[in-house]
Amino acid sequence: MTPEEFQKYYPRLLGWIDATLRAHPGNPRTVASRGFPRFPLYFSADTLTSAKVVLVDQLPIPPLLSWGLTRFAEFERANFNGITYLNTFFLKRDQENNEVIHFHELIHIIQWRILGPKRFLFSYANGLEDFGYRDSPLEAMAYDAEAAFTAKDIFDAEKMVARKLS
Ligand SMILES: [Zn+2]
Repeated sequence: MTPEEFQKYYPRLLGWIDATLRAHPGNPRTVASRGFPRFPLYFSADTLTSAKVVLVDQLPIPPLLSWGLTRFAEFERANFNGITYLNTFFLKRDQENNEVIHFHELIHIIQWRILGPKRFLFSYANGLEDFGYRDSPLEAMAYDAEAAFTAKDIFDAEKMVARKLS
């Protein structure tokens, strides 16, 4: 995706994200309130108290197809269990107690924070286009971190993301 094409869709995408976050005020919980005991080993207290989780039946995915972005049709149709926008992630209700998916989405929250919305969305779109969902760099980073968390490695997840993005 060229910067020019991205620029054309960026305001619409941001508007959609803003509307989506405002449409789900239904008491989002902070990740801190979920009390996953290992998380403070990986994330700062600030991150855990500012990151929000919303449980939903259907994940909100931007209507890329109807905007004419047909090459992202596969992404729009994919059946994910979670998705992150800015400092909020949405999970399917049955993922409520899935610690690992919370960890994965927190990695995306750190990516959003470090890159800012514009660079995050541009990188994410290009990653999808060039490598597909699973191997796109921002997803690969989240899946690698998730695997290390599952293997009980202990590391500063925020520093790791910052290092990989630099
Ligand atoms: Zn992900």
